[in-house]
Amino acid sequence: MTDAHPLMLFNSLTRKLEPFEPVHPGEARVYSCGPTVYNYPHIGNMRAYVFADVLGRTLRFKGYRLTHVINITDVGHLTDDADAGEDKMEKMAAEKAQSIWDIAEHYKQAYWADVKALNIRQPAQWTVATDYVPQMIEFAKGIADRHCYELPSGLYFDVSTVADYGRLARSTTDADDRDGANELGGRIEQVEGKRHAADFAIWRRTPAGETRQMEWDSPWGRGAVLGFPFDIHTGGIDHREIHHPNEIAQNQAHCCTNGLDVPANSGARLWMHNNFLVERSGKMSKSSGEFLRLQLLIDRGYHPLAYRLMCLQAHYRSELEFSWEGLGAALTRLKRLVMAVAALRAQAEPAAEAGPRFADHLARFDAAMSDDLNTPVALTVLEEAAALKKVDPGAKLAAIAAMDAVLGLDLLALDRADLRLRPKAATITEAEIEAALAERKEARAARDFARSDALRDELAARGVEAMDGDPLGWEWKLG
Ligand code: AMP
Repeated sequence: MTDAHPLMLFNSLTRKLEPFEPVHPGEARVYSCGPTVYNYPHIGNMRAYVFADVLGRTLRFKGYRLTHVINITDVGHLTDDADAGEDKMEKMAAEKAQSIWDIAEHYKQAYWADVKALNIRQPAQWTVATDYVPQMIEFAKGIADRHCYELPSGLYFDVSTVADYGRLARSTTDADDRDGANELGGRIEQVEGKRHAADFAIWRRTPAGETRQMEWDSPWGRGAVLGFPFDIHTGGIDHREIHHPNEIAQNQAHCCTNGLDVPANSGARLWMHNNFLVERSGKMSKSSGEFLRLQLLIDRGYHPLAYRLMCLQAHYRSELEFSWEGLGAALTRLKRLVMAVAALRAQAEPAAEAGPRFADHLARFDAAMSDDLNTPVALTVLEEAAALKKVDPGAKLAAIAAMDAVLGLDLLALDRADLRLRPKAATITEAEIEAALAERKEARAARDFARSDALRDELAARGVEAMDGDPLGWEWKLG
């Protein structure tokens, strides 16, 4: 842990790179905002969990004992993330004519399937908001007197009762701007009777004439599981604006009310946010019909780990633009790595240690990951190691395994056949393709180019591209 490359992480609270100094030496406690399970996650949401996973893996690589909690919100979550709008869970339940519990269960399972497919490690604990209702009630009761006021629509948090509200969003010293003059105030819908634009509901009453199946808002599992303060809180960049400032305000209120001496009272020391995956044609939006789910990528023949690799090719704080071409390029890059590793595995078992030939690679890999999780550079170091000539294959496998434990591409388990996914729409079997290709080879050997071309065209008509001279030896792909 005291090594040449101290782990530096970007803290959204200070907008600076800071050395990671855990609350308890040797231990890292991380909380990640998980999904609200009212619909399938889109691949942008999954970028947030790939990021949290890479962070967790890096902390372990750096020698910390990791406790990672991911919270799943299965209770009322409002459509506009401020304090008005419809409840997403209730809305979907009504649309599907199912109970809200069935909706939550279905989409929770779908989310877990994506987590598994992307090789995201299981956290130490998944917390589910409805398991923490008594704690939420206690929490709300505890801060209500000093920090909240009641309106017909619910119990509202008065943001002027805590110091420096919204500093995470603004990261400036402009602490008095609580009345909506700043840009985030403009995004918050007004509720009659609110004292400040930024005040938010911590408890909502069922509007007259409506029956809602669940009634709670903010999940408080994190306090119960990790204690305060913990080390790192993660989420997507959108949460930096409203959701996380509101969490910090509630943490501050809780700590003050309970006389807890928590530095800065923000709950977590470091707040880390991944930037967005963007897609120009609007296919990311869950209201766009066929939106970009991981399953859609798989149905089109892209292995899910190609998407993971695509995420790693960008720094987590940079916007990443999705395109099918980009995903195709990531798949090719993954194929190259998998083929290289497969060739090594055919020769040797991974050695216990990578040994001196790889010391420099591992040091550079460590430097890259310790530099605020610089995965694009770390990936190139991994590829350089994989390309090193005249080295012991077992040692090379050990080096690759050490790096892949952080990047999570599952390189030592994947093989060529795994990566060759059959698109859902394909009407041809692999055996048929292989037979046609074998016949084509014979035709070419006999210089019967008319037959060879005809076979290629027949395959193309069925959605198979024959890849003559493919440097990876891939021979064909479905498109
Ligand atoms: P939600 O279920 O809306 O709370 O979103 C789950 C997680 O995905 C949150 O951490 C969001 O900040 C994050 N997120 C939402 N959209 C995107 C996107 N397009 N790219 C990356 N992360 C996103």
